Formats: sequence, C-alpha cells, structure tokens
Amino acid sequence: MAKSFENEHPIKAFGWATRDTSGVLSPFNFSRRVTGEKDVQFKVMYCGICHSDLHQLKNEWGNSKYPMVPGHEVVGVVTEVGSKVEKFKVGDKVGVGCMVGSCRKCENCSVDLENYCPRQIPTYNGYSLDGTLTFGGYSDVMVSDEHFVVRWPENLSMDAAPLLCAGITTYSPLKYFGLDKPGMHIGVVGLGGLGHMAVKFAKAFGTKVTVISTSANKKKEAIERLGADSFLISRDPEQMKAAMNTLDGIIDTVSVVHPILPLLMLMKSHGKLVMVGAPEKPVELPVFPLLMGRKLVAGSCIGGMKETQEMLDFAAKHNITPDIEVVPMEYVNTALERLLKSDVKYRFVLDIGNTLNKK
Ligand code: NAP
Ligand code: ZN
Repeated sequence: MAKSFENEHPIKAFGWATRDTSGVLSPFNFSRRVTGEKDVQFKVMYCGICHSDLHQLKNEWGNSKYPMVPGHEVVGVVTEVGSKVEKFKVGDKVGVGCMVGSCRKCENCSVDLENYCPRQIPTYNGYSLDGTLTFGGYSDVMVSDEHFVVRWPENLSMDAAPLLCAGITTYSPLKYFGLDKPGMHIGVVGLGGLGHMAVKFAKAFGTKVTVISTSANKKKEAIERLGADSFLISRDPEQMKAAMNTLDGIIDTVSVVHPILPLLMLMKSHGKLVMVGAPEKPVELPVFPLLMGRKLVAGSCIGGMKETQEMLDFAAKHNITPDIEVVPMEYVNTALERLLKSDVKYRFVLDIGNTLNKK
C-alpha cells in the first residue's frame, strides 16, 4: 500500500493545502524528510503569497499536482543542520525561494543559473529526488539542501519574505538586460507584488521610472510612496500616445493576457521589453513594431542562488523592503481572492510563526 502524505517521511509537518483545482486551502498533515548531511531544517516564520501560487492552485499552467501546499517566499529560523552543512548553524535566519534543487552540473548550474536548469526542483508542485511531491512554505517546517537556502541579512525584517520571489524576479532582469544604468528610463507594467519591487530596485539603481497600470487609484501612492517619476493608465490611449518613444526598457509583470503593441510603442529604438508575468495563454506579438527600431522582447525567470543572495544583501544595504499586508494563516483564502482582484498593496505575507496552529 502506498504511504500516506503523513507517514511517507519521518518528520511531522503541518500546513495548508488545496486538494483540487478549486484552489481552496484547508489544514493538511504531511511529513518532511529527515535532515540529510547537506540539509538545513528550519521553522517557517513568514511566507509571501505570490500570484504564481494562485495560478498553480487553480491549475492555470496545466501542471498542477495535488494536494498542493504553496509558498515560495519562505523565511524562517534554522532548527537543525546536517553534518556536512557549511553555511548555517542552528538559530540562523534563512530564506528559501522558488527552488529547492537542480542538477548542479549542467551548463546553467555551472554558471550559477540554477533557475534555468532543466532539472530544477520547484519548492512546491514538483518532485523531490526520491519521487515524493514537494510542499512549500504555507507550513510549519521545511527541509532543504543548503545550496538552495540563503542567509537572511541581520538588519532585514523577516516579514520581507517577498524579496525571495518578487524581489529576485525583478532585480535579475534589470541587471542582466542592462536596465540598471543611472539616467535610463524604465517602464514597469502592473503595480502588484512584482511590479512594486521592480519600481523600488529600478529607483535604487538610479533610473527614472514610469509605472504603466490599469488602476488609476494606485497613481498617488506610486509617485509619493514608491518613488515612481510618472504614471500612465494603460487603457488611456491619449496618455499612452504622448509617452511613445520614451522608454529604454520595460519590465512587464502582468498576470493575464494583455495588449503588447502599446508597450512596444512606448520604447525607444533598441528598447527591451522583458516579460516576467506568466499569463496562462499566449500573448499576441506584433512583429512590425519590433523591426522598426530593432526592439527586443525577452523573458526572465527568478534568479540563481548566488544572485538571490546578492539581491538580499543589496536590499538590506539600501533598505529596500516590500510593502506588505501581514495576515494570519486562517485569512489565506480571503487573501487569495483579494489578490485576484489586485486588492493588496502590494503583497500579502502569512504570519506562519504566530498563527499556524495545528487544530
Ligand atoms: P499581482 O500582485 O497580482 O500583480 C499583477 C498586476 O498585474 C496587478 O497588480 C495589476 O496591476 C496588473 N493586472 C492585473 N490584471 C490586469 C489586466 N487585466 N490587464 C492589465 N494589467 C493587469 O501578481 P504578482 O505576484 O506580481 O505576479 C505577476 C505575474 O508574474 C504572475 O503571472 C506570476 O505568476 C508571475 N511571476 C513570474 C515569475 C518569474 O520568475 N518570471 C516570478 C513570480 C511571479 P495594475 O493594477 O497596476 O494594473
Ligand atoms: Zn513567486
């Protein structure tokens, strides 16, 4: 007889899971593997709620495995380390992002791009090396190979967990595509979890930032609080027309299919449009506006472990933290409903440490 999720591994674990495409979460008893010699075990304190959780809970990407315990912006405190662990000791503050494993020897892994390894093991909704399902950070305890664990900077608040996905996903393409040069003009499409981090990093790099949004009610705060230089309503053709040929690059964080042509028109020649949002259906890509101006459309997925640590240290140094609404575990289903309506400024973070109570 197949082992149940509760006894397939020796360490008792408790979290919230969905069992089907309804995406509704409820309490779930499961288990974690024993802390291996290169593993770090930690008590989860905070976990961010990413729109990718929502996509996967509802099988919008067509690869969902159930039961699913989401959560890939996980911050906690080390409770046990394996005999060969070098970087961490009991009591250290640590973080785990979107992956907990990769092959460690392919072309990507050998240059610190584990995020592009074809054998990457996602933090949840994937399979561990032993064939069991991976479960994420909406839970009390996690075990991960130390290579996929980052050191949480001392002066960074632990509830800044969204840096581990929203942060690195926007930091990495700004750097890689050279959109981090002072004086450049960068557009950020969609002012949600990822978008607001893109604004903060782009400003920290010294660029001018224009937010391109569907929500007029986000304008005042985007400028006064997040430090954006200007704000365009993407559904207002006059505003969009007036801003044509002004941007050096765009980070597009929108979670649903949306028009790409107006974004291409906003860019100068050689402008780079980097897609990081992951809509469930293909977007329409008009080619002529790309040819006229030698423009580029690219994608980017989280970041490697080395760069994730670099991003965290940069955030700590420059005091860059996400704007969050910290909520108790019982609130998770309401939080997911609100996230779907873009009704959060700008990221929910679950207070796992204080509110995940085993019933
Ligand atoms: P989010 O907080 O929901 O933000 C998405 C934003 O998109 C919303 O705040 C909204 O901004 C805008 N938007 C929503 N509906 C729209 C519509 N119909 N038309 C135009 N804009 C719309 O989500 P998130 O957590 O930032 O994630 C965004 C996307 O990135 C998701 O698809 C997620 O799966 C993906 N993602 C990718 C990676 C990666 O590695 N590439 C990593 C993490 C997440 P406004 O109100 O300003 O319009
Ligand atoms: Zn994410």
